[in-house]
Amino acid sequence: MTWLLSRLLKAFGAVFFGFVVGVVVRKLTGADGLGLALGVASGVSVVLLVDVVRGNRLLTWLRGNQLDNAPRDTGLWGELGYRVERAMRDRDRAVARGRLELDQFLSAIEASPNGVLMLDSHEQIVWCNRVAADHFSLDPQRDLRQRITNLVRAPAFVAYLQAGRFDEPLVLGTGRAPSTLSIVVREYGEGMRLVLSLDITERVRSEAMRRDFVANVSHEIRTPLTVLAGFIETMHSLPLTAVERERVLVLMTQQTQRMQTLVADLLTLAQLEGSPRPAPDRWTSLDGLLLRIAADAEALSAGRHRLRLKPATGVELAGIESELLSAIANLVTNAVRYTPDGGEVEVAWRQLEDGSGELTVIDTGLGIAREHIPRLTERFYRVDGSRSRETGGTGLGLSIVKHVMQRHGGELMIQSEVGKGSRFRLVFPAARVRQASDSALGDEAAFNAAALSDH
Ligand code: ADP
Repeated sequence: MTWLLSRLLKAFGAVFFGFVVGVVVRKLTGADGLGLALGVASGVSVVLLVDVVRGNRLLTWLRGNQLDNAPRDTGLWGELGYRVERAMRDRDRAVARGRLELDQFLSAIEASPNGVLMLDSHEQIVWCNRVAADHFSLDPQRDLRQRITNLVRAPAFVAYLQAGRFDEPLVLGTGRAPSTLSIVVREYGEGMRLVLSLDITERVRSEAMRRDFVANVSHEIRTPLTVLAGFIETMHSLPLTAVERERVLVLMTQQTQRMQTLVADLLTLAQLEGSPRPAPDRWTSLDGLLLRIAADAEALSAGRHRLRLKPATGVELAGIESELLSAIANLVTNAVRYTPDGGEVEVAWRQLEDGSGELTVIDTGLGIAREHIPRLTERFYRVDGSRSRETGGTGLGLSIVKHVMQRHGGELMIQSEVGKGSRFRLVFPAARVRQASDSALGDEAAFNAAALSDH
């Protein structure tokens, strides 16, 4: 109310001015009425003039872009200007805050791993994040205000949107790279729609792999079981001579062993997948492993191949002994099994400059065509199924090798040429390789170095 006081003062000043004018006019003319009238008129005029000037200044400011400060007058017009200016600043601040919140909200949706797409009531794109743009091959700027069904023409998607029943998500296969999307639509506001898309390619693939795996295991077990059931039936219903009986029992034993090997490999795989990564603090002598493997390989070869399996490496490897044994043994027995009589199988060790080490199993066997090589470590993948089974293979060996190497921070590499032979290399990281003489270094220091390089 500070303006009221100044206004009263101004009115008082104007009255006083009018009074002085009235007295002067009366003195000059002697007319009482004229003096009074002129005094009132001039007092009111002064007040009006001041108001007009100040009001006009405020109005000019209001009509402008209001970037400058409001006119700083005293009294009523000053306070009016100040209040209007404050209201406008509050409004600007609220708008800026709203814009910031909207930006933050959109950035959060932008960062979402899911695709988010907003459609208006005419199915036109109002906004979409980068993931949705990628899922539906859209351009987030150029395609705004375009009808989604003009841009995403997959019949299943168009039909899903048009049907308007969104209780179940739509599973849509996209042609690109081929991938699978799960699409959920939610309605909001007046006819607006929120389209959420999720890339479920990996999930679909792993479900398919699980189904294939179960089908493969069932098939692998059913075959020997069928054979066994046939033999049991034969033994029941036919009178067999002692020789025939012996032969049937040998065959039955073979089938049983086949199932046992399969179950053992499956258990190994399950264990590899379910257990934590082996700590690099337990050291195993590579020469000791090779000695045991060579004994089995010699028995398997039965003198049909030239074997050089025991290089003196003097090396120790860090990891789980049984896993390392299984990985190397798988490669060596494969080399023997897939090398015709008279061929050669050799194991070699090489320490590389960076401290890592490479164990190579080389054979002069059948070799593998280039197109099969990337798939060899898939479970149950075989190049020649009948040879694999004849020689007691399960189709899981290389898959086990790959898992073991991954768990030990290493790698399995395969080179092969049909008719010439194969070279399977196991590369161990430096942290898991040491010369037996280095063990004097102290296990704790080696453990720390290994743990650092593993992560
Ligand atoms: P399997 O039990 O059938 O041997 P693996 O996983 O050990 O299963 O090997 C997968 C396939 O890779 C084999 O079926 C075989 O066709 C091929 N293979 C593996 N090692 C060799 C090798 N040394 N020489 C030729 N082919 C090989």
